[in-house]
Amino acid sequence: MSDTKKKPAVGIDLGTTYSVIAHINDVGRPETIPNAEGDLLTPSVVLFDGDEVIVGREANKARTTELENVADCPKRQIGNQVYDKVFGDRRYPPEALQGWILNKLKNDASRVAGNFKEAVITVPAYFDEVRRKATQDSGFIGGLDVLDIINEPTAAAVAYGYQAGWIDIEGRVDQPINVLVYDLGGGTFDVTVMEVGKDRFRTIATDGDMRLGGQDWDQRLIDHVSENFKNNYGVDPRTDSATLGKLLRDCKETKETLSTRSRAQIECSLGSSSLKTEVTRETFEDLTLDLLDRTDFTVRQTLKAAKMKWTDIDKVILVGGSTRMPAVREMLSSLSSQTPDSTLSPDEAVAHGAALRSAMLLHEGSSAFRPAEIKNVNSHSLGVVANEVETGTPKVVTLIPRNTPLPVVSRKTFKTHRQNQESVLLQIVEGESINPEDCAQLGRCAIWDLPGALDVGTLIEVKFAYEENGRLKVKVRIGGSTNKSFRYEIQRPNSLTEEQLASWQQYICGPDDS
Ligand code: ADP
Ligand code: MG
Repeated sequence: MSDTKKKPAVGIDLGTTYSVIAHINDVGRPETIPNAEGDLLTPSVVLFDGDEVIVGREANKARTTELENVADCPKRQIGNQVYDKVFGDRRYPPEALQGWILNKLKNDASRVAGNFKEAVITVPAYFDEVRRKATQDSGFIGGLDVLDIINEPTAAAVAYGYQAGWIDIEGRVDQPINVLVYDLGGGTFDVTVMEVGKDRFRTIATDGDMRLGGQDWDQRLIDHVSENFKNNYGVDPRTDSATLGKLLRDCKETKETLSTRSRAQIECSLGSSSLKTEVTRETFEDLTLDLLDRTDFTVRQTLKAAKMKWTDIDKVILVGGSTRMPAVREMLSSLSSQTPDSTLSPDEAVAHGAALRSAMLLHEGSSAFRPAEIKNVNSHSLGVVANEVETGTPKVVTLIPRNTPLPVVSRKTFKTHRQNQESVLLQIVEGESINPEDCAQLGRCAIWDLPGALDVGTLIEVKFAYEENGRLKVKVRIGGSTNKSFRYEIQRPNSLTEEQLASWQQYICGPDDS
């Protein structure tokens, strides 16, 4: 057997709170690779300990004692120029922090899978193109060749498709089926409706709540216990950082306990005062009902966007550690009138799907897994800012509405508003509001060298081509006598240059790892 055929097929779920790495094992099944500490899940946390950088379990533990040296959830800040905390006197781009996490996963996994560089990394479906590119850069910094970036819900559907037997190994499905993926993790929530057909995974609609996850459920318990303590002793334990650190850890554990047991106790001590609070599952569910309702709302919105009813959904699949909470399962059972499928581990399904994708790409032709086609939609509307003719107020004009199947090309025509106008500034935005301030600024492109003597009302055609890989290309054509066209890749102020990427890679992986 040739070496290329035996390249390890590796997939990585680079999660907000936990990351998981998986490969296709000797018998052709996806399998999670434990890290050097023996855990399947690696906390996505980085600790700066003097000259040492520690990733994972120990870094996570240090959150309760030395939070100032800990970078947690860098994924939340991916797309920003720098992480918002300073360590020593240094600031780090989120890509570098994720690079350390990926490098640990890679090194730990190579003990089992053998040496490898290629891997598929997953991202949330709602990630815009800036954050996809930044994730790809994180992979490079961490010493990986990123084969593909695929959406987490798609990866989960791939894993279920192959392992739960909807699809046979030849890629056959009897009939296309509609799948709803409900993913509630530690810090984020998203819902995706997909169609799984022969050799094809097609996203139909996706939505999410970037600020909703298991941590919010933890916080409700912290508040409940703290209020109880305050009523007894008159002091708020949340004001003491060491006590708060301990509460964070204990309340998360208690929450997890309440998924299997119907009651649990949390002890809280501050100074010489100490109090045990008993929490039943029922109380916990009351305390967090509105959070669950928020997921219910997003699920309904997504179904609506997919133009479907519950009777159109053939399977509901559960992803993310927080879907272990019985209340989540009960809610989905009652909404969908079916038992959600949880045959695969909710923590591992995404990484397993990524490993399957990697096998499809690396071993094309020779793989047991036929390469499936993956069709995405854009998760946010894309447009430009233009001034309204009557009022002169800037507003967003959408070129590509959200949930449009990719690839797509869209054009809109605008008019110059001054005689002899010499320049056009095109501001590209992403978001659902017509107010530019409420949208994310993707970048801008300026045309300075318009041909002279353009009449007011000269037509300017803007063309957006959004590719399947989530990259956007922009073309501007000036009408009138000139018919000149300009092409732009968007300039992104926050992304790292080639030199910066190479230097971070050297710093994190060492000089021998190229
Ligand atoms: P992410 O995708 O955000 O990295 P995960 O899918 O790994 O996260 O989910 C992590 C979350 O799942 C944490 O908030 C954790 O407390 C929660 N979780 C894990 N196991 C359970 C459980 N048994 N009951 C409730 N929540 C759980
Ligand atoms: Mg996840």
